[in-house]
Amino acid sequence: MSEVVDLLQRLIQLDTVNPPGNETRAAELLREYLEDNGVHCELYGKVPERANLVARIPGRNSGPRLLLMSHTDTVLADPVDWSVDPWSGDLKDGHVWGRGALDMKGQVAASAVAMASLAREGFQPAGDLIFVAAADEEVGEGEKFGMPWLVEAHPEAVEAEYSVNEGAGDRIEIAGTPYYFCSTAEKMSAPFAITIRGRSGHGSMPGIADNALVKAAPLIERLGAFHAEPEVGPEVEALLRTILGDVPPIEQVVEVAQQFHPGVAEMVEPLLSTTVSPTMIRASDKRNVIPGACEITVDCRLLPGQTPSDVEGLIRTTLGDGDYDLKWGEPYGGTRSPLKTPLWDAVSSWVESSEPGAKAVPICVAGFTDSHWVRQKFGTVAYGFFPIRAMDPELAARLIHSADERAAVADIELGLDFLRHAAVTVGNTTT
Ligand SMILES: [Zn+2]
Repeated sequence: MSEVVDLLQRLIQLDTVNPPGNETRAAELLREYLEDNGVHCELYGKVPERANLVARIPGRNSGPRLLLMSHTDTVLADPVDWSVDPWSGDLKDGHVWGRGALDMKGQVAASAVAMASLAREGFQPAGDLIFVAAADEEVGEGEKFGMPWLVEAHPEAVEAEYSVNEGAGDRIEIAGTPYYFCSTAEKMSAPFAITIRGRSGHGSMPGIADNALVKAAPLIERLGAFHAEPEVGPEVEALLRTILGDVPPIEQVVEVAQQFHPGVAEMVEPLLSTTVSPTMIRASDKRNVIPGACEITVDCRLLPGQTPSDVEGLIRTTLGDGDYDLKWGEPYGGTRSPLKTPLWDAVSSWVESSEPGAKAVPICVAGFTDSHWVRQKFGTVAYGFFPIRAMDPELAARLIHSADERAAVADIELGLDFLRHAAVTVGNTTT
C-alpha cells in the first residue's frame, strides 16, 4: 500500500470532529511520521487538546518560502447515513472512505508525504518549505484555535511568501479541453440583518395591532430582486480569456458562457457582483401573538476588495421606504492574490505536464478558507489547489460535508505529485 494512503487512513481513524476538535491527536500522528523521516516539527496550541502542527525543511538561503496549508478538523458525521463507519478509513473500490477524506485529510496526508519524501531525498529549497496542519477551520464563530490564532501568536512559524491550500482543483472538460481550477481569491461574506418594527397584539384582533411579519414581506421580495451592476474582476477576466479566448461585453458574459458550457455560466455568474440572499426570519414565538418586531437575516457576498459600506446604499435603495433598521454582522474574508507569480507558474506547468493539452485557470470562490489569514497578515500569495481528476467534480462537491465522503486513491497520489512539484519549483526560485 502506498505511503500516502496509509497515512490518510490513519488520519481518518482519528476522530477530529469540530466541535470539540481534539486535533492534537492528528498533530501528534503527523509529528511522529515526519520526525521519523527527518523533518523538524513543532506543536503550537492555544489549549493542549487543539494543537497546530508546523513542520519545516529549512531553506539554503533567504529564497521565497512556501507554506503548505491544511486543517485537521472535520465536520460531524452521523453513522446512520453512511454505508461504512465514517472513521474506518476503509480502502475499497480504489477509494479511501471516511469523514475528512476530501475536506481535507487527503491533502493533509499528501502534504506530509511531500515533506517526508523530499526530506529523504535531501531536498534543500532556497527558502523554507513549511507545512502547517492547523486546528479549527470548520467552525467560523467564537474563540479561534487555528490559523487566525497562529498568525497572531506565532507569526514567525508560518510566515511565507507563497502558500498552497484547499479551495479548488476541480478538473472540468470544456469543448474537449480539460481545465483545472485554482482558487486565487475569495468573496467576502458580509451578513446583515433587517429589523422591522410594528405593534404586537392578540392574534384574534389584527385590526388593533401592526403586524411586523406582514410588513416584512415586501422587503423580502425586494431583497429577492436585488441586482448589483456586474463587473469583471481579474480572476473572471483571466478565466474567460483562457476558456473563451476573449472577454465578452459585461452584459453578455453569462449568456456567452452559457452557450459555451452551462457549468462555466453557473460558476461565473455569482463572481460578477454582490449577491444577496435572505435566509432566515424571526418574528413571534407564539401562534396567537401578532409580532411587534421581525428580523430578517441576509447572506450577502461581496467581491474581493469591496466593503459593506460600498454596497449599503444600493441595498437601502433596493429596500426602498419602510420602517426598518439595517445592521451588519461581522464580515469575513474577501481577499485575493495576484495572478502572475512564480506559484502560478508552478501550478500551470504542473497542469500542462501532468495532462498534455490541459490548462490551469484562476477562480474566485464564494467560500472561505484559511488562505484569508495569511493573505491578510503577511501578504502571502495564497492559492487553493489540490487536483481532482479521477473523481467527477460534481460528485466530490456533493460528498464534502456529507455522507459516504471518500477520495480516490489516484487523486490523492496526483495531489502529492503536484505538491512535490510546487515545492521543487518554488524552492528553485531565487529572488
Ligand atoms: Zn476544509
